[in-house]
Amino acid sequence: GGMKDLSVEEKVTVKSKNLDVLAEYNKSRRKKSANFVVIGHVDAGKSTLMGRLLADQGAIDQRTLDKYRKEAERIGKGSFALAWVLDQGSEERARGVTIDIATNKFETENTAFTIVDAPGHRDFVPNMIAGASQADFAVLVIDSSVGKFESGLKGQTKEHALLVRSMGVQKIIVAVNKMDTVQWDKERFEEIEQQISSFLTTAGFQAKNISFVPCSGVLGDNITRRSDDPQATWYTGRTLIEELETSEPYTHALDKPLRMTIGDVFRGGVQNPISISGRLDSGSLQMGDQILTLPSGETALIRSVDVDGEPSDWAVAGQNVVLNLANIDPVHLRSGDVICRASAPIKTITSFTAKVLAFEHLMPMQVDVHRGRLHVPGRISKLVASLDKASGTALKKRPKIVGPGTVARVVVEMDQAVPLEAPTRIVLRAGGATVAAGLLE
Ligand code: GDP
Repeated sequence: GGMKDLSVEEKVTVKSKNLDVLAEYNKSRRKKSANFVVIGHVDAGKSTLMGRLLADQGAIDQRTLDKYRKEAERIGKGSFALAWVLDQGSEERARGVTIDIATNKFETENTAFTIVDAPGHRDFVPNMIAGASQADFAVLVIDSSVGKFESGLKGQTKEHALLVRSMGVQKIIVAVNKMDTVQWDKERFEEIEQQISSFLTTAGFQAKNISFVPCSGVLGDNITRRSDDPQATWYTGRTLIEELETSEPYTHALDKPLRMTIGDVFRGGVQNPISISGRLDSGSLQMGDQILTLPSGETALIRSVDVDGEPSDWAVAGQNVVLNLANIDPVHLRSGDVICRASAPIKTITSFTAKVLAFEHLMPMQVDVHRGRLHVPGRISKLVASLDKASGTALKKRPKIVGPGTVARVVVEMDQAVPLEAPTRIVLRAGGATVAAGLLE
């Protein structure tokens, strides 16, 4: 007997159940999936608030909570314990700053939520963009305490809100936090509500997509349970979790062609030597399906599917999945690549028009185009117009240059063909800095 020829690998076959996935989805009681991004000024209480949500929804076990509490007390930062639930790196804990995007999950009766957390630190805008690019809606955390609301407005509050709107996020929930520090002052809340609404409307959010909840992350008031502070009885609206729950429908395009961006590629498992994770942007899939990966143009077979950590025969748009694949060499799979079907592939393009928010001055210039984790060199070849933020109508055609804070329509050319189609959230970077972010049209 000769040696086994390793270059000719045996093809794996999986018998498809040929399910009508949309019918299966409709009759299943499976929870909806929703991703949200948390934005706001540094120290507004974002991490504390999210830690509170996770803890109250039972997403963190008591032992882990106790461990954080002990560790926080040990270095004399007891009040940070909740925030640390999110910042699990010890280096970040020692500095007391949320740095990286922590992905965290919790569930309510109807929805599986994923928090794509956004750091409040000024230098970490690129991380926030990565979070915003996966978000169905945003939670804006405002520090209501005296002086802090005002400095937050001058700080990152507006910048973050404008950024997520530019990236196509339509719905925003404003947590007016630290209400305990202003004795639940109703007038204070209404003044903040009025100012923030007016700003968010000019940033392009529709009034019906903006809501406000007065709360205290540290005390857990109006987060998952109503405040029992006698000073807070004037508020009869929704708690934050009720607001999250009612922020449906998340319009995921279930009946559109399959699109999924690869988040991570895992290899080497005994059962499943090649797996990819990501979120279905549109369409559906099932075990036994043949998929096309781009830009490699290689096909693969779906051996099995996990949805939110549970094995499943199928998955639909909006769900976070792990796909175990066969019949493909993992060199063809990279984070940022796109999964679709050979029958309805994404076209690869070399130029596009996009509506972007400028962070720096924009003019015809070299840029790197980032889509998720994919990036290619290119250039802004034309400024089509500067636009009104709220209405999107042209203010000035063919400007030579636009300044930071401007929304503009630009034409971008790329040095190589890339699978991209509207509406995709893209980021333009130059010299290591983000110069613009927005939506491919
Ligand atoms: P982040 O930078 O936005 O993530 O803010 P943190 O969650 O780290 O909170 C900043 C500080 O505000 C910490 O000292 C928290 O304990 C405190 N804090 C957060 N939420 C509240 C609140 O609702 N009330 C009060 N009084 N303090 C809060």
